[in-house]
Amino acid sequence: MREFAFELAVCATLEAESDGIIARQLGTHTRIVDVVEICPGPEFETRLEITSETIPALAVESDVGVGRACRPRDAIDAASDRATNIADRAVELGFFEAERRGGSRYVRRAVRYPEWIGRLRAFENKPDLGRPGDLELQLRKDVSLGLFDEVVLITESYVTGAHLNRIPDPIGVQRFDPETGTFETIREAEPLSTTAPGIAVLESTPTRVDIEPVTAAEKTRLRRRLAERAYGKGWRPDELPGCERANASGPPFGPDDALPYCAWNGRFVDPARECGPECDGYDPAEPPGTDVEDVRADRTPWIKEPDGVRRRQVGLDRFET
Ligand code: SF4
Repeated sequence: MREFAFELAVCATLEAESDGIIARQLGTHTRIVDVVEICPGPEFETRLEITSETIPALAVESDVGVGRACRPRDAIDAASDRATNIADRAVELGFFEAERRGGSRYVRRAVRYPEWIGRLRAFENKPDLGRPGDLELQLRKDVSLGLFDEVVLITESYVTGAHLNRIPDPIGVQRFDPETGTFETIREAEPLSTTAPGIAVLESTPTRVDIEPVTAAEKTRLRRRLAERAYGKGWRPDELPGCERANASGPPFGPDDALPYCAWNGRFVDPARECGPECDGYDPAEPPGTDVEDVRADRTPWIKEPDGVRRRQVGLDRFET
């Protein structure tokens, strides 16, 4: 099975088992991770209520507080124009509130940024262990940096002792059947230390390894950024192809889904990479009517259009939630 279809089947299965957020293809400090699960932290519900989208990292990391309002350029670590754009986006999302004072625009947080991120789990998909590519290096990078609480390799292959010997010890191994959506645990993952400093392996050749120390505080920041991107992104492709040959479908064990199936190719396709006039089977049409976001909202805690947390101003510097 192609890696893309395998990955969609893995995500559908993980989503059905998770009470958190599943997302795919997210960049970390050193590489792109196939699939990530954000397990709920203590204030997960608050995060659900703020916005369905990713809150800009620089807004979260800014000195804009919930108390006194301030000017974006004084509190956001970016050039003035960019700070304004970030503040605008945060206001649009309902994370900041804006007010005018003496002709200037001031912002404050509508809510304290919640402690919503619990454990982070990373999953590396390698359906065929006979074609490992740079799998071993990628997994060594994960162990060395310790950004995730747990990292699991998922494969369709029969896993031999020789395979296991090449996979770093803390990495869990699961065998996955994409027809039935079932996992078989070959080896449990060991927890990685996410609160200690880590080492980012940037480049590795037979003669040279480039590394960079990463502090515990920086790891916390990277984890939060990753979780925010995961929250906004999810794992389903955003749009279904505008093509007569496209259907909304799901993997064999859960066909009622909103994944892009192409009847011409007889498989799932990645619309961003495969669909359009360059495809020989392309036949322009309205995309299938299934709403990808509705499916996500139905099956996960994620809320498509939350009420938001914007407060009502009842006096100068006084707000009601
Ligand atoms: S554009 Fe090509 S790959 Fe995409 S759905 Fe149409 S026929 Fe399939």
